[in-house]
Amino acid sequence: MDQVLLITGASRGIGAATALQAARRGWAVAVNYASNSLAADEVVRSIRAAGGTAITVQADVGDEAQVIAMFEKVDAKLGRLTALVNNAGVVDMQARVDQMSVARLERMLRINVIGSFVCAREAVRRMSTQHGGSGGVIVNLSSAAARLGSPGQYVDYAASKGAIESFTVGLAKEVAGEGIRVNAVRPGLIDTEIHASGGLPDRAFQLAATVPMKRTGSADEVANAIVWLLSPEASYVTGTALDVTGGR
Ligand code: NDP
Repeated sequence: MDQVLLITGASRGIGAATALQAARRGWAVAVNYASNSLAADEVVRSIRAAGGTAITVQADVGDEAQVIAMFEKVDAKLGRLTALVNNAGVVDMQARVDQMSVARLERMLRINVIGSFVCAREAVRRMSTQHGGSGGVIVNLSSAAARLGSPGQYVDYAASKGAIESFTVGLAKEVAGEGIRVNAVRPGLIDTEIHASGGLPDRAFQLAATVPMKRTGSADEVANAIVWLLSPEASYVTGTALDVTGGR
């Protein structure tokens, strides 16, 4: 039976790198995206060209109905889910807390936090032995920002990742006896398009000198950690967060 993996936000960046690596390790991969269908199609094309199995699944993870429809499509096309990577995430424009609107805060928390909760809920309903599943694994994308706080840039984003870490610990304990492992990865400054989406395309490179290893990380370096946590090699690892930060 295929091991079935859904990765949210897998059209670009860390999610896309994880999709390509996981497919090489034999996972059938559902590549979720919000709007960039061309990029998601390209990830699936690359996986299939290498002999792997993949489909695209569009959904805004901040919209419950779309998330439910996405999981149903995965059920129908790939079979029962055995792994989820809660990778989709957004930043916003640089701002101080005293400048933040409720609309901004609601978008941040809806996508980064509620989106991860609802995807995990749907995954647990399929994986848990209490629900007739055969177990599984969930990896949540936190950020070094959860520790550093991102002052003057996006404290709201940092706080959303802090929530992801508490969520990871709590869910891990809740389902540890039901065959499901839950962990987080905490990337540092990674060279992806997320910085441009926050209006700071050169952010990672500008801050590279503050990293003990004096460089940014690549999406593949984060994907390496994610696929390890997904693998049986991490069979006794749950409820933890793994820094991939070059020492930052
Ligand atoms: P990118 O901005 O490069 O890619 C974001 C991905 O998420 C895209 O596939 C995008 O889809 C998708 N996405 C965005 N919003 C939604 C949504 N509402 N519903 C579904 N999918 C959505 O991000 P990164 O690869 O850099 O980041 C991935 C994760 O890693 C995020 O959770 C981020 O917070 C975290 N992280 C990143 C760091 C970095 O330095 N890059 C550092 C620490 C953590 P589409 O292409 O359709 O827009």
